Amino acid sequence: MNRFRNFMFGRYGTDQLTVALLISGMVLTFIGNSFDLHLLTLVTYVIFFVCIFRTMSKNFVTRQRENQKFLQYWNPASTWLTAKYRVLKSSKDYKYFSCPNCKKELRAPRGKGKIAVTCQRCGTKFIQNT
Ligand SMILES: [Zn+2]
Repeated sequence: MNRFRNFMFGRYGTDQLTVALLISGMVLTFIGNSFDLHLLTLVTYVIFFVCIFRTMSKNFVTRQRENQKFLQYWNPASTWLTAKYRVLKSSKDYKYFSCPNCKKELRAPRGKGKIAVTCQRCGTKFIQNT
């Protein structure tokens, strides 16, 4: 354990980009093996090599810059995916619809019949079937 700690001392280690590369590499490996796509399997070797290279790298500044660039795109995508997942999870209990005037996404409990809705953003009143 001590030898491993000494070996890893001063090395970058893992970050969000490395984990994302690792997961995408595993997914591509699964797809490549399932459909017998040998070229895709080769691409995954490159991805795994990049993962090892980033983890063992001693150039912290460049690795952190790469990770920041990745997070610049990943964070908004993650927020969007989380919101969509929340909608999907609660769609059994809530009906989602948008305001006819400002297109703001609204929700109401299911099974309440026709209800009068007032948009919180623009104040438009309309009838919605739930
Ligand atoms: Zn509105």
